[in-house]
Amino acid sequence: MADAKPLYDTYNRVPIVFERGHGVWLETPQGERYLDFAAGIAVNSLGHTHPHLVEALKAQADRLWHLSNVHEIPDQSRLARRLTEVTFADKVFFTNSGAEALECAIKTARRHFFVNGQPERYRIITFEGAFHGRTLATIAAGGQPKYLEGFGPKVEGFDQVPFGDVEAVKATITEETAAILIEPVQGEGGIRPLSNESLRALRELCDAEGILMILDEVQSGVGRTGKLFAHEWAGIEPDIMAVAKGIGGGFPFGACLATASAADGMTAGTHGTTYGGNPLAMAVGNAVLDVILEPGFLPHVNDVALVLRQGLASLKDRYPDLVSDVRGSGLMLGIKCAKSNTDLVLAMRNEHILGVPAGDNVVRLLPPLIVTAEEARDALSRIEAALEMLSRNGAAN
Ligand SMILES: *Cc1c(COP(=O)(O)O)cnc(C)c1O
Repeated sequence: MADAKPLYDTYNRVPIVFERGHGVWLETPQGERYLDFAAGIAVNSLGHTHPHLVEALKAQADRLWHLSNVHEIPDQSRLARRLTEVTFADKVFFTNSGAEALECAIKTARRHFFVNGQPERYRIITFEGAFHGRTLATIAAGGQPKYLEGFGPKVEGFDQVPFGDVEAVKATITEETAAILIEPVQGEGGIRPLSNESLRALRELCDAEGILMILDEVQSGVGRTGKLFAHEWAGIEPDIMAVAKGIGGGFPFGACLATASAADGMTAGTHGTTYGGNPLAMAVGNAVLDVILEPGFLPHVNDVALVLRQGLASLKDRYPDLVSDVRGSGLMLGIKCAKSNTDLVLAMRNEHILGVPAGDNVVRLLPPLIVTAEEARDALSRIEAALEMLSRNGAAN
């Protein structure tokens, strides 16, 4: 039967329709322009309708869209090779989403111990506040009660410890532990970066205990923090890594990267996907990498990040009643609100700039990585106007 609202009610949607986008800007059918500092939650890494991506997608659309993974897909091998050349990884499995990249990462870790005579090692330690996706295994890994409630028994095998607590991780490791799974910078959890020292300590702990380190870089990866991957800031390497969001620049795909040793259990027939790594996705993925790997790209991210970071720090000084902290890494920034983060997102939207609410009362700023310093300053003045409005309203109450 026709429902007035035929979509699942899982989203409270913003009542603005966007019809087109270009670079850092989104436009409504009425021609109103918004500065997009949400980027589809860190997805539109190269902004909207980037000419190189449009060209790659259109050219591929005229040739071949989809092919089963029982066939060789040359662009898939090419993208995998390019990813292994610039990371710790030897092996790549392509997926359609971040959650599926995590599912692959979890299966890879468990299977590694299975084929190496330790099938009892299947448990994975995660941090409180984590977000790894919405599948049954990834909600168990994330451990957030609000995402688990009502969906039947929680998938077995995940142990959670307080965020950043290396000692607690150590105390939780048993002969059943296969891996630890962490975001170098928690995204949904409220832009909470793990310190470089903690990441290094966790790496050492994994080595000492003979367990695997899985990093979830679905949000923090592909240039977002000013390095190709956030863990590079700590000078460590994981054994397995999940990637998605920015890697597709808006085309939905993800990847699980692993060392040859960690992936040794993932032999023919053990895992699969219908769509993962299809020619359309790979054409866009290779095009995204073309741009991100250009020599000046990451320095640009760091330069603009500095402008934004300094501007936000001064807003924090001027509005201490509204902004209690500014944190994050590169162009993955969080404004921790002293009052309501959703009020700030709304006030920002009135100033025609989009941000994303996150846990811990934070507003995330995740602009396309191609954002210019001028656009960053434009964003800062809009955020300032939003804070000024909230401040005046607060004083009026
Ligand atoms: C978005 C996100 C996921 C899930 O990705 P989907 O593509 O929505 O399945 C997993 N981990 C992190 C850190 C994310 O930000």
